Amino acid sequence: MKLKIIGRTYTVEEVDGDLLNNLNVDGLCMPHEGRIVLAKGMSKELKRESLIHEICHAMWDQMGLSHGKLKEERVVDAFGKGFSAFIADNEKSILHTVFGR
Ligand SMILES: [Zn+2]
Repeated sequence: MKLKIIGRTYTVEEVDGDLLNNLNVDGLCMPHEGRIVLAKGMSKELKRESLIHEICHAMWDQMGLSHGKLKEERVVDAFGKGFSAFIADNEKSILHTVFGR
């Protein structure tokens, strides 16, 4: 799957968990490669949260905020969880309410 994130096209793919398990993460954002990878086998909810989390990393990079890894991780984690819950809670109305479709 491809996603356009602030003007940059990212390839999103699911990979076997081994690579990510070694890093103790469910997903990775690689801005220089334009790739987001997610571990296979997550629940629907965790997959959504992980994808939004990695999208936030991509946004962070595209917005030129990449200073201080710890701060980035905390902000991305907070906004990722927030957006993930927001999208889930407004699944039916989000296109109409936010985008007027
Ligand atoms: Zn992260």
